[in-house]
This record gives sequence, C-alpha cells and structure tokens, in this order.
Amino acid sequence: MENSRTSDRDRGLVFNLQRFSLHDGNGIRTIVFMKGCPLHCLWCSNPESQNRCEELSIKTMRCIRCGTCEAVCRQQAIRLTGDTATVDRSRCIACGTCVEHCNAGALSMLGQWMTVDEVFEQVIADKAFYESSQGGVTFSGGEPLMQAAFLKQALLRFREAGISTVVETCGYASREDLESIRSLTDTFFYDVKLIDAEAHKRFTGVTNELILSNLAYLQESGSEILVRMPLIPGVNDSEENLAATGRFLKETGLPEIQLLPYHSYGASKYPTIGRSYTFQSHSPSAEEMERAKAMIAGYGVKVKI
Ligand code: SF4
Ligand code: SF4
Repeated sequence: MENSRTSDRDRGLVFNLQRFSLHDGNGIRTIVFMKGCPLHCLWCSNPESQNRCEELSIKTMRCIRCGTCEAVCRQQAIRLTGDTATVDRSRCIACGTCVEHCNAGALSMLGQWMTVDEVFEQVIADKAFYESSQGGVTFSGGEPLMQAAFLKQALLRFREAGISTVVETCGYASREDLESIRSLTDTFFYDVKLIDAEAHKRFTGVTNELILSNLAYLQESGSEILVRMPLIPGVNDSEENLAATGRFLKETGLPEIQLLPYHSYGASKYPTIGRSYTFQSHSPSAEEMERAKAMIAGYGVKVKI
C-alpha cells in the first residue's frame, strides 16, 4: 500500500507477483512485474505494464450493468453505455472507488505501490522452493530499470538474503541506472528486438543505439547475460536482420541467444484498458524457428529455441 512517509527509492509500482514460475530463470521463481516501460512494442503481450501509473481495468463480460460505478464516481469517468460500463480515461484519476463498489468483480486496479519490505516478505515466503530448485526472484515488467532506485534496494535486500536474482530488461536505460544495479544482479535477461535503428523505432517507439551499447557494456563488465529475441514474422525474421543479429552478437562477444516465438496471447488484455490490439503477425512455425536459428548460428553463436 502507498505510504507517503516512504521515499520513491523504497516504493515500486508493481502490477503482479507471480509465484511458482518455471520460465523466467533457473528453478522455481517468483516474478515481480514492475509497471512502466520506455518502449511501446506493437506486439506487447503485457500492455498493462506500459504506463507507469495505476490504471483502471474493466472486464466487460463480468459487468451486470448495475450502475453502481457510475453512481459512486465523483469524476464522472465511468458510465453505462450499451451492454457495459465504459471508462473515460481522460477523466479517471484511478482513485479505486468504483473498484471497491463493483460486486460483480468487473473492475480492478492495475498497479500497486509496494515497499521493498512488502515485496521481500511475499517473495521470501517461497524460500524453501528456491533452495530446493536453485530458483529465486525475477524482476520483469514493463521495464524494471524505469524504477531503478527501488530495484537497487530490492536487489540489495535479496542479495543479503542469499536469493538468486534475474533482471529482465529491454536495455533502454541510462548507463548510470544500469551501473547502479549491475553488480547486484546475478543474471540479466536482455531483449534484442531489431538491429536496424529505424525499424526498431517504427515498431517499438525508440531507436536502439542505447540498447545495443548498454548490452555491449554489460558484456565488457563481465555480467552474466542471456540475450533473448522474440521471433516475429514480418518484423525481425528477415535474412538481413537475422544476419545482422548474428554479426552483432559475434562482434560483441556474446556467445548465445534464445529465440522466443511470437504469440498474441496478450491481445485480450488490450480492451480491458481501453485499447485495441491492431498488430498483425503469426506465431512462427517450427520450420521458421529452425531457419532463424540456422541463420544466426551461422555466425558461430549458440541459438536456443
Ligand atoms: S459496478 Fe461493476 S457490474 Fe456494476 S455497472 Fe459498474 S462495472 Fe458493471
Ligand atoms: S477509478 Fe475513480 S475516477 Fe476512475 S472511474 Fe473509478 S471511481 Fe471514477
């Protein structure tokens, strides 16, 4: 819960704590999903992670049109229209009053301010599972480095407790912020989406010079890194991009990359926050994954799929 006596350094905006994950690092892990991201990838499967603020979510299928939310909202930000309630996001101040009064469970607030202690206490509850599986905690998002001061304090706390840490990052962060957490992080999962800067900007909203130079910096600093790339047909599966990716990894001295097949599982989340999922691609076939693997591997880089 938000506490005005704590500083930003001690509080983070978290939108989910996912226990017993087996996919974001070694062993059994708890994933701390931080809210806020400097990129806006068109295919994002966690759209609720992008804005660094609390957001009202509505599951229209659950709405029974009781009208309570409209009655209690002092901002006149939520109204019954057609089959459901709809939110005027330019008016909503995310006060949460309507959430408290919606008995149908149609409304929820995305994002909760938590102190380092609160995150630590929830994560440490599964310490026995981490110990038996060589697991730990993974900070994901969104982009955890958007809340670098909080992240640093949290990583310090887990380091002192002997818990393994992974930070999943898009790499778009100041060198100063990256440096502040580098030595406190056991492993970085580092996303590389596209090598061409202009295409990167078109699909994610930002260019990639900072991302690639930060990756090279981490490599030179001796950090443990797993580079990952979502393979997205029509975005980054061209011969040109795969060759450029292989070349970049080789020249930077990064021995390995993991390719993750694109999926559209996050599409249904977009309408709950008043957005539409307009991105179009398809999940790559086994043949498309193998082709991409072979192309990058041709540069002497190990490729996991
Ligand atoms: S309070 Fe909940 S169920 Fe009632 S109209 Fe609002 S969103 Fe729908
Ligand atoms: S969160 Fe607050 S401002 Fe937003 S719709 Fe609900 S009651 Fe209104």
